[in-house]
Amino acid sequence: MQKTAIVTGITGQDGAYLAQLLLAKNYKVYGTARRSSVDNMQRLKHLGIGDQVEVIGMELMEPSNIQSVIAAIKPDEFYNLAAQSFVAASFEQPLYTAEVDALAVTRILESLRLSSPKTRFYQASTSEMFGQVRAIPQNEDTPFHPRSPYAVAKLYAHHITINYRESYGMYACSGILFNHESPLRGSEFVTRKITRGLAAIKCGKQDRIELGNMDAKRDWGFAGDYVAGMWSMLQQKEADDYVLATGDTHTVREFAVLAAKHLGVNLEWRGEGVNETGIDSATGKVWIAINPKYYRPAEVNLLIGDPSKAKTKLNWNPSVRFEQLVQMMMEADLAAEEKNTEKKTTNMAA
Ligand code: NDP
Ligand code: GDP
Repeated sequence: MQKTAIVTGITGQDGAYLAQLLLAKNYKVYGTARRSSVDNMQRLKHLGIGDQVEVIGMELMEPSNIQSVIAAIKPDEFYNLAAQSFVAASFEQPLYTAEVDALAVTRILESLRLSSPKTRFYQASTSEMFGQVRAIPQNEDTPFHPRSPYAVAKLYAHHITINYRESYGMYACSGILFNHESPLRGSEFVTRKITRGLAAIKCGKQDRIELGNMDAKRDWGFAGDYVAGMWSMLQQKEADDYVLATGDTHTVREFAVLAAKHLGVNLEWRGEGVNETGIDSATGKVWIAINPKYYRPAEVNLLIGDPSKAKTKLNWNPSVRFEQLVQMMMEADLAAEEKNTEKKTTNMAA
């Protein structure tokens, strides 16, 4: 029989890649989205699956909405990917972040417990929960020390997921995923901000990029690999929690240097702290400058994951390494920017 899955956050990066994977496995995919006044199905369309996902309205702040969707569909699998996912925004909107990233997860689990207890549940947890890290690298046993309202909310969601598994025997998993990116990554996240910004500078549309902490280190992988891990977590004999990561870490500065290299630009660094600039060594032009407004009230300086458990138990392996990821994102943004320029030139000529 055809399996059914509900994926919350279908308009987001992971929602799109996961839907693509589930459709390829012949699932009936219900994607939930909150109401929007604009067409926000761009990512699904980009992957060519815009008309294959059944999109249904679901606002995570609305318990009755969640309850009625779950009671009507009673899916085999439920992937909770929806969240206020941007760490910086969580400092501005801590209560909203707690509602959507923490309490909403209990709303979903309660609805599943009451209406569809056999549904297998995946919670999108995050390496941000490790925060001020207590061990290097971080694995499933590393103690947590969250450093943002986002991470605190996600930690609640992580524990409530485990609690429902232990209390009610529900098949509920928490995937502790390290940063994963792609050409579909939200444009405010640092990787995409860099690749889009560099492409725009290259095409003469933007003067420079302003960034914050260049020393932060992240374990960056490819989103397509990570959604495969989510699916695997729900196919096991018993529910459990897993870290997904590459085991490799790089600074924001290293990401920028490598991305610029793909444009044939050799970035050199001058100055320190807020006065640091990334300069094209051939022309002396400043491409990257620091704006302290991008510093965070509390920072996560270093993340590097140990995915041994997922490798052994799920047979999960990330296929895209850092260098390929940077290249994939840089090439996609350059191609999009060049296409844009072409379109404008043609329109002007017409
Ligand atoms: P995105 O920000 O791309 O997507 C988030 C999704 O959540 C969007 O579809 C958004 O809808 C939806 N959403 C936000 N608020 C609400 C709400 N109140 N009601 C209903 N839907 C809402 O995130 P990603 O795809 O990158 O991440 C997926 C999940 O994984 C998130 O929970 C994130 O926190 C977590 N995660 C991500 C990591 C990463 O590196 N990408 C790392 C670890 C965890 P809209 O389009 O309307 O805004
Ligand atoms: P996060 O790991 O979920 O917070 O993902 P981000 O991509 O938002 O940030 C990764 C790291 O890049 C953090 O340590 C940020 O402080 C750092 N960073 C430096 N400059 C910027 C910037 O301009 N925007 C963002 N989003 N992050 C930045």
